[in-house]
Amino acid sequence: MISLQQVSKSYQRQFDALAPLSLEIAAGELLVLLGSSGSGKSTLLKLINRLLEPDSGQILLQGKPLQAHDPVALRRSIGYVFQGIGLLPHLNIIDNVTTVPRLRGDDPAQALQQARALLHSVNLDPDQYADRLPQALSGGQQQRVGVARALATGASLLLMDEPFGALDAITRDELQSMLLDLHRRLHKTIVFVTHDIFEAVRLADRIVVMHAGRIEQIGTASELINQPASEFVELLFSKPLQALKHLQQT
Ligand code: ADP
Ligand code: MG
Repeated sequence: MISLQQVSKSYQRQFDALAPLSLEIAAGELLVLLGSSGSGKSTLLKLINRLLEPDSGQILLQGKPLQAHDPVALRRSIGYVFQGIGLLPHLNIIDNVTTVPRLRGDDPAQALQQARALLHSVNLDPDQYADRLPQALSGGQQQRVGVARALATGASLLLMDEPFGALDAITRDELQSMLLDLHRRLHKTIVFVTHDIFEAVRLADRIVVMHAGRIEQIGTASELINQPASEFVELLFSKPLQALKHLQQT
């Protein structure tokens, strides 16, 4: 689906936000980028939807270099969900969800019907919420709308940048379940960014551990835990596991 080949990016000349790295993302997988703040996760996502251009290397989407895709069509064909979501505050929920379909010139009645179905699928009753402004929704509900809006583009690829980062633990847990359920039903390719190990383990088919602009290891949660490729990865997982064991003993 996506192939990054020796891709690098620096913002200032002397600083590598991303060292040359390579990564294959398979169609339909839920890939989690796990790393601490500043490790390059958001930079990597922005390179995939061409909010940023790499300094070197290339990125292929469905076998074709990103530059060969029409930039507007490309961005509209990729769902992008981020923390604080950026719903348009003066538009009601249904208009927020149908923004891209309307821009694209889809049939309005069809776009509306699809948006209502998507609100259902993120567990928001359209009869209750369609006409509300974003400010009349809780943070968790706004993130649900953000996911519905990303799905309304018809995108087969969703990029999610710490989308549940600002939510309380219970709401976060609900949204993680919702995302897993959507992924099982819709078979989208999802690249999900988090700094939370437990979120990564819960959601991921595969985890990419990032550190200081580099990939430390790629693997399933159990591969990372049982066969860490570096001391960094070993510590990353062993510390929270030890803390949990300690809790159990008290
Ligand atoms: P993450 O999402 O993992 O927290 P980012 O990809 O946002 O990391 O950032 C990677 C590195 O690049 C950080 O050191 C950050 O300070 C730097 N960086 C990110 N955006 C910019 C920018 N617009 N200008 C300069 N440096 C940036
Ligand atoms: Mg980030």
